[in-house]
Amino acid sequence: MTQNNNTVDFHSFNLHEDVLTGINSMGYNNPTPVQQQAIPLILEQKDLIACAQTGTGKTAAYLLPLIDRISHEGYEHTSTLILVPTRELAKQIDEQVEGFGYFASVSSIAIYGGNKGDDWEQQKRALTTGADIIIATPGRLLSHMAMGYVKLDQLNHLVLDEADKMLDMGFMDDLIKIISQLPKQRQTLLFSATMPRKIRDLAQQILQQPAEVNLAISKPAEGIDQRLYLTFDNQKLPLLEHLLRELDVQSMIIFTSRKSNVSPIVRSLKKMNFTAEGISSDMTQDEREKALQGFKNKQYQIVVATDILSRGIDIDSLSHVVNFDMPQDAEDYVHRVGRTARAASTGMAITFVNEKDMFRVQKVERLIERELPKLPLPEDFGPGPAFDPTRRDGGSHRSRTGNKPGQGSKGSRNKSKHHRGPKPDANAAPRPEGQPKQEGSDRPIKAAVQKEGGNGNKNRSRNRNRNKNSNNQGGSPASSAPATPQV
Ligand code: AMP
Repeated sequence: MTQNNNTVDFHSFNLHEDVLTGINSMGYNNPTPVQQQAIPLILEQKDLIACAQTGTGKTAAYLLPLIDRISHEGYEHTSTLILVPTRELAKQIDEQVEGFGYFASVSSIAIYGGNKGDDWEQQKRALTTGADIIIATPGRLLSHMAMGYVKLDQLNHLVLDEADKMLDMGFMDDLIKIISQLPKQRQTLLFSATMPRKIRDLAQQILQQPAEVNLAISKPAEGIDQRLYLTFDNQKLPLLEHLLRELDVQSMIIFTSRKSNVSPIVRSLKKMNFTAEGISSDMTQDEREKALQGFKNKQYQIVVATDILSRGIDIDSLSHVVNFDMPQDAEDYVHRVGRTARAASTGMAITFVNEKDMFRVQKVERLIERELPKLPLPEDFGPGPAFDPTRRDGGSHRSRTGNKPGQGSKGSRNKSKHHRGPKPDANAAPRPEGQPKQEGSDRPIKAAVQKEGGNGNKNRSRNRNRNKNSNNQGGSPASSAPATPQV
């Protein structure tokens, strides 16, 4: 994460002492660029549209001024709603509030999709009791709102975090429905890693004369050693094994765009005697949390994941990121690669590019304004595909696995590993996780997103000082229905 070296420090924002103590306890010395720009504007109560990606410190950029306000305004109601695309991000933000809020006495609850009845009841209880900040995925929040006990009628601050991702996941309608039930007089902050047209349109609908902060998609941190290997699909697993044995890998995330690839890659790694776990939306929440926790605790050296993990998830000390396949969007490349070399450390990002994905390399290079080194395959691997960024298909002479005719005879290594690995289908090009086929056909995607909610929620209500709403366990009366719909 880019640290700021100039003289601005957190004291210059006139934040209250308790908030400064919280910042100190988190070990933050200086505000990051997005914090420098956004915090004063948010404290002035302006609406804000901020283009900033994960890893820039954008969460604290809005949490700190909001917590400062909440803890000193004496609100007796839920004042802040933060909408996010995934439960992982919801939980991560909740944890950050817990960190800062410990000193500033601010409570939060995280609401995200799940499939166990008691999660629902837990969330219902937490929402009925109330908290200063609700952090929620849109679908699940809407379901609770429909029951009438979610009290947002006095809301003061609305944050949309990773707005582009929410739209990509088909949450547009849900967002509009939620926002239409919030008070019109509020401060709205929209954070997005990218600013496509649809985000601008949304901003126009829901923000009022917003200030802008633009830390547009940046190049991956300087400390990241980025390299590409041009490989046929059947060379990927052997290459991965080779790299794992050659490099000093403390902790590695392997990203794949296809969730069907996760388990086969994990199985192959285990056969190679590496400790690995997979994380994908096919797993229950418990399984995913266990895998993530095991990885954080260094029980496993390797995690294999879909793009669920590429944004918003903070894992410290990650030494290596491997893109087992080229991400669909150049921006996803930046997000994936940004998982390493966090907080100014160093790391390596290795990307496997097959013959069908070469055109994506140029898009990435244009975005990050830098040519990525294409490394030769190890000698005994035989040749990989030649670099041809103009090419968009696998070529009619390739087999479905990407093998050149006759290539299988080049080295038994390739041949023998071929059938053990995942079987990426060159021609089917399945839709990557979390990406709707087209805007508007979002129902199946929403269903998938809801499924990601899993179980094992730990929703909390931490009304430390105020003990508010303690007599209000019976749910909201119908009369406390939200204010007149306004977007
Ligand atoms: P984010 O971009 O919000 O995902 O933040 C990325 C990481 O940077 C998180 O681990 C934060 O705790 C950390 N962070 C945020 N602000 C600062 C800061 N001013 N100094 C040091 N680390 C920070």
